[in-house]
Amino acid sequence: MAIQSIRLFGDPVLRTPAEPVKDFDKELRKLVKDLTDTMMDAPGAGLAAPQIGVGLRVFTYYVDDQLGHLINPNLDLSDDQDTEGEEGCLSFPGLSFPTPRAIRAVAKGFNMHGEPVTLEGTDLMARCFQHETDHLDGILFIDRMDAKQRKLAMKAIREAEWNGVAAPAIKFSPHSTHGKAL
Ligand SMILES: [Zn+2]
Repeated sequence: MAIQSIRLFGDPVLRTPAEPVKDFDKELRKLVKDLTDTMMDAPGAGLAAPQIGVGLRVFTYYVDDQLGHLINPNLDLSDDQDTEGEEGCLSFPGLSFPTPRAIRAVAKGFNMHGEPVTLEGTDLMARCFQHETDHLDGILFIDRMDAKQRKLAMKAIREAEWNGVAAPAIKFSPHSTHGKAL
């Protein structure tokens, strides 16, 4: 087991677009294992590499008893949306909000051996593919909500006890930024 710590909202890595995987090597297989172990331990239905601080286009999923991973994903989405389904994120512990998502998604990419893979999902699986692929683009589920819902979500996030743990006071300090962009 190689469980990694999960980065929380406020950590800049969650806003940084991830790079495509080029080398399907031993390190990539270790990353897939770390993501899988960390996701199962959480437990969660999906986890993207930036959530454990790795800027590569890789995610894992565990939905409807199906465990898998996808590398360099590309999504094809249905026009019909589910606007009421609740969605959570391991980077926002304990919180979930209605988040609009396409009902069906076809996800194309590669497995850790570099072989092309096509995955088709509906409902929760489709939601997971969209949520995780968004993570690889630095997009978070709060960005997908309408303005009213986002306002409610931000209030709950501000009040969450974990908030401020990821980026302690740096934002408000006139002094050191530890080399991070504000
Ligand atoms: Zn997430």
